[in-house]
Amino acid sequence: MSTLGDVWGPTKKQDKYVFSKINSFTTMNLDYLRTILPIKKLFFPQKQELFSFNLGEGNKKTIKAVDDSKHRILFGLHPCEINALNIQDGFFMFGDYSDPYYEDLRNNTIVVGYSCLPDNNCFCNFTGTSDVDEGYDLFINNLDDYYLVFVNSTTGNDIVIQNQEMFDEDISKIDLNNYKKWVNKRNSMFKHEYGDITNNITKLMDLNYNDEFWDKLGEECLSCGTCTISCPTCSCYNVVDKLSVGTIGLGFREREWDSCQLPQFSVVAGNVDFRVTRASRLKLYYSHKLVTYGNDGPSCVGCGRCIEQCPVDINVLRVVKNLTEVDL
Ligand code: SF4
Ligand code: SF4
Repeated sequence: MSTLGDVWGPTKKQDKYVFSKINSFTTMNLDYLRTILPIKKLFFPQKQELFSFNLGEGNKKTIKAVDDSKHRILFGLHPCEINALNIQDGFFMFGDYSDPYYEDLRNNTIVVGYSCLPDNNCFCNFTGTSDVDEGYDLFINNLDDYYLVFVNSTTGNDIVIQNQEMFDEDISKIDLNNYKKWVNKRNSMFKHEYGDITNNITKLMDLNYNDEFWDKLGEECLSCGTCTISCPTCSCYNVVDKLSVGTIGLGFREREWDSCQLPQFSVVAGNVDFRVTRASRLKLYYSHKLVTYGNDGPSCVGCGRCIEQCPVDINVLRVVKNLTEVDL
């Protein structure tokens, strides 16, 4: 596979996992469940130089776009991660307003998915993202004794054709039954039972918009931004021009991750801040995660990172529990 480009996959980092560039398949750890940062970091990096400029003098102004898009293979992405990438596609590649930096990185990347079994923090059963139908080239289902591979693009098909000795295209009824058994086993392992996220959460969010529960969360929240940084579907960024010291007119424009949970995020011209309280910022985040993001409905994919990483235990499941619970 390395002939197709740089290979990236999950590797162990102390007791956590990260997506890193792989030089040997032995360093890849497919037993992982979730990485610290989601794969969005490879399409929309934490800091990304967009272009450099030299304003010079007279007619010598130059602007040079940065193109660091290379061919890559991302190996071992779970369904929630690919579903999150599809949501990022909707944000960055929306009709005529496609972001060229993101689009180049996306078009130059082969995505190979890999099946997983949930732990106590996974709830993709509840967000409808435990399986994925698009956004990948190949998807490998580990059925214990062998792998069932879904092909979802011409690139994926080319890889299969070029490596025919690794694949057997005769799928039998036994294979299908083994797959169904595996899906049933996976589904029975989820611990969280809230029903379908899309069902009535919109109404409940509206009806509870002024509930004191939000103020309580606001008092607990540290405004650290960890939930947005670790969330695979958060895509807010800031753009800043950085000038070099000592050379007039020379500099570069950089895009960097931002977070709606940070105090200065909603400050606009005139120093007006329309989301002063932490409660109001949390309502924004959870409206995007549970109700609508763009035109595409909720954006939570149930990866469990906010459960694992928020230092004060604010997360989607806690919010949903409060929205749905009946007070007696
Ligand atoms: S809101 Fe939490 S569980 Fe949902 S996708 Fe973001 S980090 Fe994952
Ligand atoms: S909800 Fe948790 S992770 Fe998010 S900003 Fe508040 S304290 Fe940080």
